[in-house]
Amino acid sequence: MRLLLVEDDAMIGEAIRAGLKREGFTVDWVHDGESASQVLRTEAFDLLLLDLGLPRRGGLEVLTAARARGEELPVLIITARDAVSDRVQGLDAGADDYLVKPFDLDELAARIRALLRRKSGRTAPAVEHLGVVLNPATHGVTRDGREIALSPKEFALLQVLMERPGTILSRARIEERLYGWSEEVESNAVEVHIHGLRRKLGADYILNVRGVGYRVRPA
Ligand code: CA
Repeated sequence: MRLLLVEDDAMIGEAIRAGLKREGFTVDWVHDGESASQVLRTEAFDLLLLDLGLPRRGGLEVLTAARARGEELPVLIITARDAVSDRVQGLDAGADDYLVKPFDLDELAARIRALLRRKSGRTAPAVEHLGVVLNPATHGVTRDGREIALSPKEFALLQVLMERPGTILSRARIEERLYGWSEEVESNAVEVHIHGLRRKLGADYILNVRGVGYRVRPA
């Protein structure tokens, strides 16, 4: 899952980026509101982490403009402003959740997982499909009750594919969801991870649709 972090404080931003990376998220980070608006117009993210007090363009303005444009991604506001009126204003401008600094990184990660769950129309914490259970909170995967050890990228790839079983995702789309700006992507990286997943889960679970992309076998 790829997140856009908008935060102008270098120390806070670095702590959030590093903490969420440890939780398996891909995090791209911009430091001002204008850059945030630009990036949101051109790239796809699963969720936006938005500070309010930002140089060049305030967070509330970024959010209002994005929603006016029809941007649907979940938005979690992270800010030091803790007045009730700030929270109400943020939520009414289209934010989905609100966390006041300083906060615990575990709580931030849990709130992100909750928002992503809601976005994909799920209420249960784990994703389940044809005997495979994937738990975003524990990073555990089982098939027919048996634990399967996956690398972080294999896990992220399986998660993306399992969100909508049967939907074909192109290699480009998968790369976009899995890799941030700072990561070097080998041209065959997705194929390598697909190969790893098929070896561990069975070749019948993940299907290669020739010339189009990959998908989890529909139910
Ligand atoms: Ca700030």
